[in-house]
Amino acid sequence: MVEGPSARAYAMRIDAKLKGEVVRLFWARSRRLFVSPKVVVGKRVDRAESFGKNIILKLEELAIRLHLMMYGTIHLYRLDEPLLKPERMVRLWLEGDRLRLVAYNAPIVELDSYERLMSRLRVELGPDPLRSEWNPEEAARRLKASGTKVGIALLDQRVIAGIGNILRNEILFRAGIHPERHVDDLNMEEVNRIVEEAKRLTDMFLKRKIKGERIGPILMIYNRFRQACINCGGPVKFYLQEPIKRKTFVCERCQH
Ligand SMILES: [Zn+2]
Repeated sequence: MVEGPSARAYAMRIDAKLKGEVVRLFWARSRRLFVSPKVVVGKRVDRAESFGKNIILKLEELAIRLHLMMYGTIHLYRLDEPLLKPERMVRLWLEGDRLRLVAYNAPIVELDSYERLMSRLRVELGPDPLRSEWNPEEAARRLKASGTKVGIALLDQRVIAGIGNILRNEILFRAGIHPERHVDDLNMEEVNRIVEEAKRLTDMFLKRKIKGERIGPILMIYNRFRQACINCGGPVKFYLQEPIKRKTFVCERCQH
């Protein structure tokens, strides 16, 4: 499952290897090609970045957006290397003079001008803790205005971009907030605590991803429902939060 930190780690890896490469061959299987794929050939890869769970390749005035959802992957190959997966799974193929980027099973592949693509994302997404324009006050405002339970609001990409289910559970445990609390009942100190944990944990997850370390060892509540709470020794409760039906872990002694 790709959360914001995984998307950023992908982008950093692509950026380090593909920056400066001039596109010689490009094709994509997608209904979201808003400019002709032909114009990609001859463009230089300026950088790769992420916004929420999206990976964005900037190619001069153009951009490609990839969203991997649950099953998508991106591979970088030397030109003489064979593909690791069958060609029917390929959604995007971008080849330069040295390397080839192949995206498999990515449900969203979009091609457009960089400006248009980024302005659409700025409408669709809330502040991203991993981007330089991160704005905690704006995130707090959006969380408070979301009009739903906090556990549901945190997965809404318009509130904070890049939060997935693992981060959501860990943020609420560390902030001591029960996922069933309605945001209208949270005071500003609680809202700010959640936003601070979102930033702190997103950074921590990214650090481990960059080092190639698993995040399992730093999880305090996620998937620990047969174990005692790490904080108080009490039982960890597991349920599917309605109506989103996402795996939810809570210690009702530590989270109020
Ligand atoms: Zn506890």
